[in-house]
Amino acid sequence: MKKVPLHVQILLALILGAAFGAFFSVDKNKLEITYKKNSDQVEETIKDWSSSYIAIGDSTVSAFSSKDQIAIINKFKHYYNSSEKSIKLVFEKENRKLVYSNVIAVRKEHTLATYIKPVGDLFIRLLSFLAIPLVISTLIVGAASLSDFKKLGRIGLKTFSLYIATTTIAITIGLGLANLISPGTRIDPSSKERLMSSFQEESAEKAVETLDISIVDFFVEIVPKNPFDAISNGNMLQIVFLAVIFGITLTLIDKKKRDTVLEFFDGVSDTMIKMVDLFMLIAPYGVFALIAATIADFGFEILTTLIWYIAAVILGLLIQTYIVYGSMLKFLGRSSLKDFFTNIRNAQAIGFSTSSSAATLPITLDCVENKMKTNKDIAGFVLPLGATINMDGTALYQGVAAVFIAQVYGFDLTIVEQLTIVITAVLASIGTAPVPGVGIIMLVMILNAINIPAQGIALILGVDRILDMMRTITNVTGDAAVAVTVANTEERSNIVS
Ligand code: ASP
Repeated sequence: MKKVPLHVQILLALILGAAFGAFFSVDKNKLEITYKKNSDQVEETIKDWSSSYIAIGDSTVSAFSSKDQIAIINKFKHYYNSSEKSIKLVFEKENRKLVYSNVIAVRKEHTLATYIKPVGDLFIRLLSFLAIPLVISTLIVGAASLSDFKKLGRIGLKTFSLYIATTTIAITIGLGLANLISPGTRIDPSSKERLMSSFQEESAEKAVETLDISIVDFFVEIVPKNPFDAISNGNMLQIVFLAVIFGITLTLIDKKKRDTVLEFFDGVSDTMIKMVDLFMLIAPYGVFALIAATIADFGFEILTTLIWYIAAVILGLLIQTYIVYGSMLKFLGRSSLKDFFTNIRNAQAIGFSTSSSAATLPITLDCVENKMKTNKDIAGFVLPLGATINMDGTALYQGVAAVFIAQVYGFDLTIVEQLTIVITAVLASIGTAPVPGVGIIMLVMILNAINIPAQGIALILGVDRILDMMRTITNVTGDAAVAVTVANTEERSNIVS
């Protein structure tokens, strides 16, 4: 029997995982309640209630309708963490009152699709585990062969300029589309109320997680005080610095010793690359589990409420991924678009299912170096840098989200405010880590910069997971497109000179 190619297996896993997740979806009208009865813990499931409320002592603190599963969970967590007294949950069902006293936990049900999530988590951990040793070893070997300082400086400058340029274009597309489509004026007030109350607590939690970004500190902190700290904290920029300096300096020492060290790292690099191949064998299972768990847990009703906002983000991501990168690759990189977009598929699929450009980095490296046959030294330098400082999908989404929230609140953003969004989003995308969900925290920073209430993120939290998956595709494609473009322009200048 002919073996099915890996990218087809991954695609099938995506589709089957989505179908499996939809079939074993989490019931939105069900809650699992754990409460204390005498000294025992009792777990019970409640389904199809018509209304409910939370009471502390004798007073009702929050009331809900039949559709408020998430609001009940979030509000309960909030009171449970902040109140000393015991909490009562009361449900009305078929004209009966069901009272749960001394409640200690309220959660959604588990289904077969959410039970298999650990398989997906395991896959993400395997990829994350690879990323640092892979980057260090390939970069040391790469930097040692790129020993020409002038060339290194030129590649660095090109990379940085393209990253900043593509991010600026991305955020401008986001702002443009949000102004054009105006998703915030298309949402009805009752949906706004419901979203705000369902995600109020979660948004308040995120709103305090502000990130401090100073551009001077950013450059100073690229130099690690302790290289081992940089490695153990997974600080990719510091790791890139460490590996490049180490690789360059290696070329200045005695040849015999240099060759021994280089051979060692070359061996490590080959081992890590082999490990990528091995781990990719379980990729279809990991992808299946991740997608199934996400789809099972996802509230599809919310999609219709936010359809214009989602449409604006997705349209923007498509333009950025295919038109902006396509043009850059064609006109600057002079590369074949068909080859690029065919060979990047695995990285896109893994980016989509893991929601993390950092975890996807080993696969992106594999696609760019081995499948596209791009210069290894350049790709080894440009991609890890990109995974950290280049997040175009995230920047684009922030543009749409900031305007959307402002529109819902009835604020008209001036040109200066929109420019502030551009600058803050570019800085934020440079200074933050490429892990799931960080984009929404960066958004808080942008909203603060233009004086829009940060609690407004409650409006979009419900669809953030799915958009996070999509923007991660753009993030990894952007890194790869810049790597290929830089490598191709370098190759041309070598031929010319
Ligand atoms: N998940 C994104 C990434 O890792 C970052 C974000 O937008 O939250 O690329």
